[in-house]
Amino acid sequence: MLPNRCLMCHQQILSNQTGICTVCLNASIYHVPVCLGCGKEMLLLAEYCGRCQQSCHLKVIAACRYHDGLGHWVGQIKYQAQFAVIEVMVDTLICRLHFLVKQGFIKMPQAIIAVPLHPKRLRKRGFNQAWLIAKTLSKKLQLPLLDDVIIRQANTLSQAGLSGTLRRKNLLNAFALIADISQQRVAIVDDVVTTGTTVSEISKLLSKQYIDAQVWCLARAEAPGLN
Ligand SMILES: [Zn+2]
Ligand SMILES: [Zn+2]
Repeated sequence: MLPNRCLMCHQQILSNQTGICTVCLNASIYHVPVCLGCGKEMLLLAEYCGRCQQSCHLKVIAACRYHDGLGHWVGQIKYQAQFAVIEVMVDTLICRLHFLVKQGFIKMPQAIIAVPLHPKRLRKRGFNQAWLIAKTLSKKLQLPLLDDVIIRQANTLSQAGLSGTLRRKNLLNAFALIADISQQRVAIVDDVVTTGTTVSEISKLLSKQYIDAQVWCLARAEAPGLN
């Protein structure tokens, strides 16, 4: 059997975790307060930065910044089926969730929804990384994962490389709610949140049903496009 080594620093991992060691994890997670609206770093611990406080913002909770080292490994889940990092990164996200609940910044949701892939893309890739992450969160937090409540009806272009306006256009009516949701608070799970266009389209659908949504992701790339 191969020794259990960290994918980032190649040191042997002695605990029972796999993928990434505690030292590398700790070096890559947030060390300063970040705005739950836009992801910007802040000097003081608060829910939102001054700019986001002025308007209603979807709360995005991430385990780390996309550009601080772990983002690459989140990408590897999708592109290389590197599932070994999921559990350890989900644990890091759960730590952050508990911290934010303790601060009174968020409330735990009653259910989880994964950002769906279009069936065609799902067949091509063979898995939906957002669903794999959501499933792990659901097990660890003992929250129901609501499958088949939201579908992706349009096979949109990849969001990467599109400008803010084009991203929104690309996603217009991309999702549809196809079943009733009895819960009032849900978390939408995605692997990476960049501009937040995808998740805010889903949260709009949910808010029409008076469902309060927050967003959970493994890594967040802060982008002004969220505003
Ligand atoms: Zn390491
Ligand atoms: Zn902000």
